[in-house]
Amino acid sequence: MTQGAHSTVSGPSDLHLHSNHSDGTESPADVVRAAHAHGIRTVALTDHDRTTGWQEAGDAAVALGMTFIPGIEFSSRHEWRSVHVLGYLFDPTDPALVAETERIREDRVGRAERIVRSIARDYELSWDDVLLQTTPDATVGRPHIADALVARGIVRDRTEAFDGILHPRTGYYEPHYAPDPLTVVRLITRAGGVPVIAHPATSGRDRMMPVSFFDRLVAEGLGGLEIDHRENTEDGKRALREIAARHDLIITGSSDYHGAGKPNLPGENTTSDEMVARIIARGTGAPPRRP
Ligand code: AMP
Ligand code: FE
Ligand code: FE
Ligand code: ZN
Repeated sequence: MTQGAHSTVSGPSDLHLHSNHSDGTESPADVVRAAHAHGIRTVALTDHDRTTGWQEAGDAAVALGMTFIPGIEFSSRHEWRSVHVLGYLFDPTDPALVAETERIREDRVGRAERIVRSIARDYELSWDDVLLQTTPDATVGRPHIADALVARGIVRDRTEAFDGILHPRTGYYEPHYAPDPLTVVRLITRAGGVPVIAHPATSGRDRMMPVSFFDRLVAEGLGGLEIDHRENTEDGKRALREIAARHDLIITGSSDYHGAGKPNLPGENTTSDEMVARIIARGTGAPPRRP
């Protein structure tokens, strides 16, 4: 086999994992080790609205002989839908991108406090309970409120919290500031990165954006779609494959690992070597790290 072509990778790739620099439960190095233990050889860290885990995760990956792709999962909103945009290999110091992630992260804190105040009218829960569940690095979100509800013995795990108290239909939900997906795709593209819509075909209130909107995202620089993800519906996956074929988009598959925070396990879905090579060939804002 020919070795060394610049953008080649080989071995299972998982390009969507979270650490405690957002709402995962493990450190960036432990996330990478968990991926390695599940047979993954190319790994991305995609913390929500945050890039501070890259150094530690990259060091751990290189030490294990893995390839590391720096990434993010950027919060956006289309109409009422929460839309997550993965970004790979962008410049983490790009001023416009940094300003937008900071704005989202700051607004998330006030929003989480409002949710907690609302829950506290009916349950024994305080903002201090939530702070106990966050590290200074965290991107504060409902998962941390869920952990506080678990610590208080109000629910058993994050899943039960999201199915009940934290579900929008229950009435405690508040949105946080989030830019339009077109803006986010543009920000990532202008920072030299590769934007990929995360789990675009979930069920429920976040269900898929209209097909015509994907065409507009492609015009702004959208690079790919995360199709193999446990939360995409089967009908949705079919529709996404058609959109990807029409625009020759990159297709990814990934776990969305959150440590103990979700049942998702590294490698439960993977991205092909060919698609990883396309991401590496297209991303110019930050290099992948290799052993
Ligand atoms: P937020 O961004 O604060 O609205 O919270 C959304 C985050 O909660 C997502 O990034 C998911 O990682 C997490 N999440 C959503 N549903 C669940 C669930 N059923 N169990 C655990 N975590 C979840
Ligand atoms: Fe998350
Ligand atoms: Fe997501
Ligand atoms: Zn995610």
